[in-house]
Amino acid sequence: MNTFANTRLDELIVGQGLAGSLLAWRLIETGRRVVVIDDADRESASRVAAGLLNPLAGRRLRPPAQLGPALDASLTLWRHLEIVFGQAFFHPTPMLRIFRDHAQRRLFKARRREPAYRAFLAGGADASDTILMPDGGFIQTQTGWLDTNALLDALRCWLLERHALIETRCDSGEFQPEANHVRWRDRHADRVIFCEGWHLRHNHWFDWLPLQAAKGDILDLETRETLPEYIINNGCWAIPSGGGRLRFGASNQWHFDDSLPDTDGRLWLEQRLARLFRHPERFHTLRQRAGIRPGTADRQPFIGHHPKFPQLLIFNGFGARGTLFIPLHADALTRHLCRDEPLPESANIRRHQRRYTDAPG
Ligand SMILES: Cc1cc2nc3c(=O)[nH]c(=O)nc-3n(C[C@H](O)[C@H](O)[C@H](O)COP(=O)(O)OP(=O)(O)OC[C@H]3O[C@@H](n4cnc5c(N)ncnc54)[C@H](O)[C@@H]3O)c2cc1C
Repeated sequence: MNTFANTRLDELIVGQGLAGSLLAWRLIETGRRVVVIDDADRESASRVAAGLLNPLAGRRLRPPAQLGPALDASLTLWRHLEIVFGQAFFHPTPMLRIFRDHAQRRLFKARRREPAYRAFLAGGADASDTILMPDGGFIQTQTGWLDTNALLDALRCWLLERHALIETRCDSGEFQPEANHVRWRDRHADRVIFCEGWHLRHNHWFDWLPLQAAKGDILDLETRETLPEYIINNGCWAIPSGGGRLRFGASNQWHFDDSLPDTDGRLWLEQRLARLFRHPERFHTLRQRAGIRPGTADRQPFIGHHPKFPQLLIFNGFGARGTLFIPLHADALTRHLCRDEPLPESANIRRHQRRYTDAPG
């Protein structure tokens, strides 16, 4: 039986990556009738991602805007989902940051004196037999990684049980805006929300948004070296997962022909591995994976209504920071749809004013 077969839906969501799944979760929790459409791509960004949560990512150790609320929303949601599903998804793990140079070491010392940073910066780190740290390093806290595959699998089953997931590929042109609603095949919904990750490029309604997609490769490795229990980060990261296994990534390619793992990505990662470990020859590659991050130039997501057809919406553009920022923005969009609260200006696609006004209908 399909619960929603003949019912007018509140929302159709396209995409069961982290963005579509967490938005669907929030909307269904508030009582909305939602159906998600997804093509079950096992190599989507969300499934390939390491799921790292790093509040001070980047060389300058600078916290992003809205870090406090984003961290709060993210950690609260993982805890809540872990209770509901009786399964661990988020693995809080401190991070060993290796100084990239003397300048970063000086910056760390200065930042450590500022109250805003104290919660994130623990002490300096000792030298290691395994890891190359010519300028030393430090331990960062409030970091960890999200098991995105376990979470997406759990949410997929939950949606299937509710008859709220249709596994098929759809074309954005199939969504026909009609007076106050949208038609897709034999379904009718008050609105459709596109959460297609980098496939936004092919979206007939929203392809005018300035997406900056970046391909990333990751290696699954195995070693007999003794690894620390930390996530290791020297610009690239390594996440030990027990039993001598670790994930290592990620490359960043702005120009690419497809989303498949490629030789350039692998060679680049192997070079970087040799900068992180004293004996890179002791690491064996088990698997290489690649995915495409849906980034934006101003690092703010794309959220909002189509300028001419408000029943068409977008929730996308989370770039390399989905783990930290999707929960906060899923809450904001849910409040907007359910309580008519305004969308945050920084994320609203209206900020692309010229393109917004000229968007094709
Ligand atoms: C190598 C790599 C490493 C990363 N590491 C991290 C990290 O450590 N921390 C972090 O926070 N972020 C990381 N990211 C980024 C993170 O993956 C993204 O921010 C997030 O997953 C984006 O989720 P999304 O749902 O918007 O997109 P996606 O994961 O791309 O999901 C889109 C979904 O929509 C489906 N879809 C698209 N078009 C259609 C259609 N027409 N019909 C049906 N289904 C469709 C796709 O198949 C997919 O399931 C990484 C990304 C990559 C590639």
